[in-house]
Amino acid sequence: MSKAIINITNTKCCAFCKYWWDPTCKYIMPNINNQWYYETTAQCRCIKKGHDTFAHSNCSMYRLKIEI
Ligand code: SF4
Repeated sequence: MSKAIINITNTKCCAFCKYWWDPTCKYIMPNINNQWYYETTAQCRCIKKGHDTFAHSNCSMYRLKIEI
């Protein structure tokens, strides 16, 4: 596993998408303000696409799951 940090206001990653099945948010962790850590190589099921995707992927159906 490898960690990265992003600003969720300007970066789209499956790890922060409400369609990525990580109900306990085990692959993401807050830092400060809108900066978050995530496990870039984690894979979970995308419930829109019906298959697993990497945490660092994204697509046009992305919807942020965190209230900012
Ligand atoms: S593939 Fe698209 S819809 Fe699925 S989790 Fe990633 S950003 Fe969200």
